[in-house]
Amino acid sequence: MDEQGRDDGTGGADDPGAALEAYHREHVLECTRCPLHETRTQVVPGDGDPRARLMFVGEAPGYHEDRQGVPFCGAAGTLLDELLAGIGVTRADVFVANVLKCRPPGNRNPAPGEIDACQRHLFRQIEIIRPAMICTLGNFATRLLSGRPDGISRVHGCELPMTIAGVDVLLYPVYHPAAALYTPSMKQVLAADVARIPALLGDVAPSPRAASPGAAADEPAGAPQEAASAPETTPDAPDAAVPASSPTQLGLF
Ligand code: SF4
Repeated sequence: MDEQGRDDGTGGADDPGAALEAYHREHVLECTRCPLHETRTQVVPGDGDPRARLMFVGEAPGYHEDRQGVPFCGAAGTLLDELLAGIGVTRADVFVANVLKCRPPGNRNPAPGEIDACQRHLFRQIEIIRPAMICTLGNFATRLLSGRPDGISRVHGCELPMTIAGVDVLLYPVYHPAAALYTPSMKQVLAADVARIPALLGDVAPSPRAASPGAAADEPAGAPQEAASAPETTPDAPDAAVPASSPTQLGLF
């Protein structure tokens, strides 16, 4: 791999597990690109199926993630697991990552400079995994990957076809589970949005991995760095009841 972590022809699309492991080992696990390396316990690169068609991208590791090295392993992770169970999948079926791979002290919001420094890791993960759909959790991931300043309360539940890191994906923003955890109305909206994932995923191309990866770009088209500093905002009032669980046995994952 080159300095940017791009595949040099020895891994990548044909063996995403090996490519991802190599990228994490060579570029992420010892990363010192931003000051967060000074305060982290360990890097939290991401976890799940390197061939997943569905990828979730959150904000940053928290206290528990920093100690365990696994994304979404606290209370928000429990809610994410419940939401996944509602659509008939588990963590092992998807890939879960964050915008930042190291915990901001005190769980503060990611700083723009930290996002700038760390985004290459996320883009490279997307380039390797080649998901069909990326579900962004909250403002920071949504703004980074959409390249738009719109807050999550405006765009949640609105799917958007995009090309990110050279990969055609369906971007699908939803509320962050941590923000929804203690707000019943937001949690209800989040559950309704997540319940749409199987149908949305069924509508996109069956296997982007089968397509030629093509030339890798430094950064994906449409991913300008807006100053993503706003906190999670109050959601719109839910306009739909939480749908019944819809286990997908559709062969989508
Ligand atoms: S947050 Fe990202 S850029 Fe900063 S040290 Fe950790 S891995 Fe590197």
